[in-house]
Amino acid sequence: MSRALHLLRTTFGYDAFRGEQAAIVEHVAAGGDALVLMPTGGGKSLCYQVPALLRPGCGVVVSPLIALMQDQVEGLHQLGIEAAFLNSTLDLEEAREVERRFLQGELKLLYVAPERLLTPRFLSLLERAPLALFAIDEAHCVSQWGHDFRPEYIELSILHQRFPQVPRIALTATADHATRREIAEKLGLQEAPEFLSSFDRPNIRYTIVEKNNARQQLFDLIQREHKGEAGIVYCLSRRRVEETAVWLQERGIAALPYHAGLDAGVRARHQTRFLRDEGVVMVATIAFGMGIDKPDVRFVAHLDLPKSLEGYYQETGRAGRDGLPSNAWLAYGLNDVMQIKEMIESSNAPESQKHIERQKLSAMLGLAETTQCRRQVILSYFGESSQPCGNCDNCLNPPSTWNATEAARKALSCVYRTGQRYGAGHLIDVLLGRSNERVKQNFHDRLSTFGIGRELAEDAWRALFRQLLAGGYLQIDAEGHGSLQLTDAARPLLRGEVELKVRSHQKRIKASSDRSSS
Ligand code: ADP
Ligand code: ZN
Repeated sequence: MSRALHLLRTTFGYDAFRGEQAAIVEHVAAGGDALVLMPTGGGKSLCYQVPALLRPGCGVVVSPLIALMQDQVEGLHQLGIEAAFLNSTLDLEEAREVERRFLQGELKLLYVAPERLLTPRFLSLLERAPLALFAIDEAHCVSQWGHDFRPEYIELSILHQRFPQVPRIALTATADHATRREIAEKLGLQEAPEFLSSFDRPNIRYTIVEKNNARQQLFDLIQREHKGEAGIVYCLSRRRVEETAVWLQERGIAALPYHAGLDAGVRARHQTRFLRDEGVVMVATIAFGMGIDKPDVRFVAHLDLPKSLEGYYQETGRAGRDGLPSNAWLAYGLNDVMQIKEMIESSNAPESQKHIERQKLSAMLGLAETTQCRRQVILSYFGESSQPCGNCDNCLNPPSTWNATEAARKALSCVYRTGQRYGAGHLIDVLLGRSNERVKQNFHDRLSTFGIGRELAEDAWRALFRQLLAGGYLQIDAEGHGSLQLTDAARPLLRGEVELKVRSHQKRIKASSDRSSS
């Protein structure tokens, strides 16, 4: 039996390595560098913990998350492994004691926050301490293309410059091709092998629905499939988090809010309750979740559209880490698309950054509007090809499509005739022939497009405008005022040279609640 397997059994109490773990452990223990891509719950920690124990010296683990460090160190102590962390929660004396043990070679694993690692004091400790390896956890934080960029991570390039003889292993649960390349480049891992695990999470069922009354739709889902079970509900804004948590509490659900604007004590308390108590539903912004190791989260719901597919994948990946059936459920509507597009356009970010954000959003919209297997779309985004999964909404209930070419031409001409200066609400008023104040003031009741869209209901038009935005036929003005403009892709459609087939919009029972909730 190899030393690694022996250690896995005697120290960690596991029978066998999973997937790529064995190959990674062997490679790093022998002194090699590695880039490890493994989905959440795949077992990344063992990939650096085992080699650190097999090699002389201490494994230094860079992690951006204080809560995660503490959990890991606690877990290692229980296994009888000498481990510690250095972060802002320690007082000076405690920190000095950890440093002393590190220098003496008494530690096998030391977790440290990147900003701490980069201090001259710590770098000089590194020069003098026995080092087994560097592990860079959440390595996508180095990437501007990634969804969770942290500037300190860029400076970690110092590790391979100053300590070229120490093996480095970078790990992440989320990285498309571009992010992977950027990680390798920024961390000097171009020569290192990539260990790529499948990103499929077969026990997660993906469902994306049209937003109608998002909270009510969520409540119905919980009643139907998740009574008394733990879940995470993501909202875009802090206000939505708080309102939704209260709304669910009023309906007897053990919901708690979590966002960066809450007091640290409150946040810690809610997190502990979520981890320890049964059936708590955490309503949160994306500030919540990284490094949360709760195996029995039965559903992750998004009440607002995530800004990228990586974000969506990572957030939904928090469901079902125990391998049991779980739901990833998302409700989205036209306003979500408008809101994110406006956020992108009106920000002060440089054009190059906006370009990246637009592309990311468009991949996310592609997933939301697809009639293909959702899992296939997600996996292909991460470079994996696969068969239809049989465990997503599109596989289980193949969506119907309709030929929207004629309707799309009406919508696009209406955008054109009104001067490309209006949002969907006004455009729909014109299409439906509503001569309200704004329509009359602008003489839009005299346009040829006035009232040409009466054959479709308002919600069908909203769905179509959303699909036209998602498909790149329309864009939001560069100032981010929310006016819709034609893109180059719109011209062939307007000229009747191409056809447009889209998902049929769902029949609404409560169409009137759409505006207030979506
Ligand atoms: P990640 O960091 O990739 O999200 P973790 O390292 O936290 O994943 O591991 C997820 C869970 O899987 C943990 O509970 C861990 O103990 C367990 N695990 C990892 N590797 C193995 C293995 N080889 N055998 C059994 N359980 C494992
Ligand atoms: Zn599928």
